[in-house]
Amino acid sequence: MDMAVKEKDRDKTKELEKKLKLQGKLAWDRMEEKERKEVFPFAEGYKRFLDRAKTEREAVREILEAARKAVFRELSRPGGGKKFFSVNKEKSIALALLGRSPLAEGLRIIVSHIDSPRIDLKQNPLYEDSDLAIFRTHYYGGIKKYQWVAIPLSLHGFIVKADGSALPVRIGEDPEDPVFVINDLLPHLSGKVQDQKKLAEAIEGEKLTALAGSLPYPDGEAKERVKLRILDLLHEKYGLVEEDFTSSELELVPAMKARDAGFDRSLIGAYGQDDRASAYTSLQAVLALKNPSRPVLSLFVDKEEIGSEGNTGAQSLFIDEVVRGMIERSGETPSEARVKKILAHSKAISADVESAFDPNYPEVHEKQNAGRIGYGVCLEKFTGHRGKAGASDARAEYVGEIRRIFNTRRVAWQMTEIGKVDEGGGGTVAKYLAVYGMDIIDCGVPVLSMHSPYEIASKVDIYEAFKAYRAFLESS
Ligand code: MN
Ligand code: MN
Repeated sequence: MDMAVKEKDRDKTKELEKKLKLQGKLAWDRMEEKERKEVFPFAEGYKRFLDRAKTEREAVREILEAARKAVFRELSRPGGGKKFFSVNKEKSIALALLGRSPLAEGLRIIVSHIDSPRIDLKQNPLYEDSDLAIFRTHYYGGIKKYQWVAIPLSLHGFIVKADGSALPVRIGEDPEDPVFVINDLLPHLSGKVQDQKKLAEAIEGEKLTALAGSLPYPDGEAKERVKLRILDLLHEKYGLVEEDFTSSELELVPAMKARDAGFDRSLIGAYGQDDRASAYTSLQAVLALKNPSRPVLSLFVDKEEIGSEGNTGAQSLFIDEVVRGMIERSGETPSEARVKKILAHSKAISADVESAFDPNYPEVHEKQNAGRIGYGVCLEKFTGHRGKAGASDARAEYVGEIRRIFNTRRVAWQMTEIGKVDEGGGGTVAKYLAVYGMDIIDCGVPVLSMHSPYEIASKVDIYEAFKAYRAFLESS
């Protein structure tokens, strides 16, 4: 064989590889210069949202404000228009748009969740021990407890007083504010009680207590003087009495702000990116829509981290109510059958973050199917754990459809699985919507340190998520 033929063969092999092999390519490399310039500015808005929306209630407020600015109207109020919002108990919210096609042909639905793992105060939280005032807590969602000690926490939430009036709380976000801290044991003494134990057992739930103060009430005869002084202060400042805690929702969340991470500023470190990364990008996708061909519904739900239960989670009938409202606003008469038919004909994305391949722990991932930072939005055909138990599994036809939409719109996407088959797993809201008969698939950005106080995501993946959701909502 002469050299010329060999060269020719090599070219042919390269061509064949390009044509046949699944090409993983960094989103940065796939982008044109013009688009690459939009990635960093887009991340600025996202960081602002993360700082302002640290709880589900705050996220609802932010989304509502953005919707009102974009002239969305309240769904339950009769009147014209094509863009509506519906707030469910201040903890979940829906944005709805009527499209060019009738509702009966189905909606384009995106569901994200706006609750994140955190440390809630107990309903009777305050006690005094060793001349310190301390809050008892009950953590919310899947946390690794050791990550939440010895970091600055801010207190967010809502207290309903005896007379029914409500007091919103947000302490620890302003640089002048005090913060709250869960103290941890010094290494000099933690040998037996912590270090020898399994990581998951080293810190017990009941030991996640947050310091609330240390000043004594002036009267030396009083009992629990530090606690009394805190109560006195809360009464003076907010008119609170201790019983008011029983009707409160107070959440301790990391007081840190969203920041650029790394020399090149390509990453974002922040609390609550699970799942406000999806909430923000899908919100922006909805706001960017102009006269969509299909009616659109974007749901931002609560309680995903504890199983989507309750009247504000994805298992509630809120979605049915919103679709009912959409039927009324489009001038038709709503019925249960109509709501069901519309939902059965709908197509949906369960927008939630995916675990990113962690180079420190390659053993929990199967690299070929792992989500990679910088490779764009992750599609998960199925969720669940160990043998796909508890999975919502999108059918191949639907995956094919989504793939075509993303490819046509030049969205950087990767097909991923949370980790190794027998390693663990997880699920999202997809299965609760799949029961209506709609096609639904999980899709979101890959995240490092998920569920930690400071999660990491890539700016380019955030931008690709926005592109992906927009392309989906604009598809016909
Ligand atoms: Mn999530
Ligand atoms: Mn989560």
